Amino acid sequence: MQKSYRNILSGSTFSGILLSVLLSVLLLMVLPSAALAAESSSSESAAGAVETKAAAVTHPDGFVKTAKGKQYYKNGVPVKKKWITVKKKKYYFDKKGYMVTGKKTIGKKLCYFSKKGVLTRSINKKGKMVALTYDDGPSVYTPIILSALKKNDGLATFFVVGNRVNQYKKQLKQAYKMGCEIGNHSWDHSNLSKLSASSLRSQLNRTNKAVKKITGKKPVLLRPPYGSSNSTVASNAKMPLILWSIDTLDWKTRSTSATISCIKREVRDGDIILMHDIHKPTAEAAKTIVPWLVDQGYQLVTVSEMAECRGKLKKGTKYYSIRK
Ligand code: ZN
Repeated sequence: MQKSYRNILSGSTFSGILLSVLLSVLLLMVLPSAALAAESSSSESAAGAVETKAAAVTHPDGFVKTAKGKQYYKNGVPVKKKWITVKKKKYYFDKKGYMVTGKKTIGKKLCYFSKKGVLTRSINKKGKMVALTYDDGPSVYTPIILSALKKNDGLATFFVVGNRVNQYKKQLKQAYKMGCEIGNHSWDHSNLSKLSASSLRSQLNRTNKAVKKITGKKPVLLRPPYGSSNSTVASNAKMPLILWSIDTLDWKTRSTSATISCIKREVRDGDIILMHDIHKPTAEAAKTIVPWLVDQGYQLVTVSEMAECRGKLKKGTKYYSIRK
């Protein structure tokens, strides 16, 4: 006995197995009596015992709808401050155990969830990011850009001209459904700083209404045509004015390679990059520049996403970039 004990201590496999068998047998002997003890204590109140059993039946693992929101039960309790993956879809449950929808910052990440609670997008708030912006569309070339973005998990902002949106409804819907942002670029590309307050308001309202009719969401950002604004524009826009920090001059060069090299040369964190999706060479440039930016570690975000990560935007204020 003394000897086998020493063998166990020295790590003999056989004795190890013997010990674990012995332990298992011991446990088997102890457990039923513990269970009996628990049963006898709960049987003191018959109603209590019934309640415990009922609770176990009502909360098997999985989703449970409550008046306050959806919960997810695991091992009999709702999960809290936790990610859960069901059928390859990711859900998050807050500190009270309720499923998150809409947007929420979790750790370093700004996360977007669908109405059904599925994670649709997450942005590392501490990471590098740029906003690609396309003006004057939508157009037949817009989908070329969308497909490059989709392949690279990127989004862009499209500042659309109101009187074009019905003609290019399909392209606009496609951009919006993907998660791209649709901004206001006036009704007919007028120079807003030359208009009266009432006609500039009408330019912006008509465009917002036309976009909302197609996407269901009113634009919240304005890019004034020609980047031209004055105090009347600022006070009547009721939207932040989004200018740019990189002008690719794509409308002038109409060159895919010049557009690409301009961005490669100038890009830095927080940039708002100006392009136009009515020109085919610009759309073609997206096929190269989008994966290149992602390779450089840039997250391709919408202007509103970048603002959400770095401080909110004010109505009537001009923004050229959104730096850290
Ligand atoms: Zn324009």
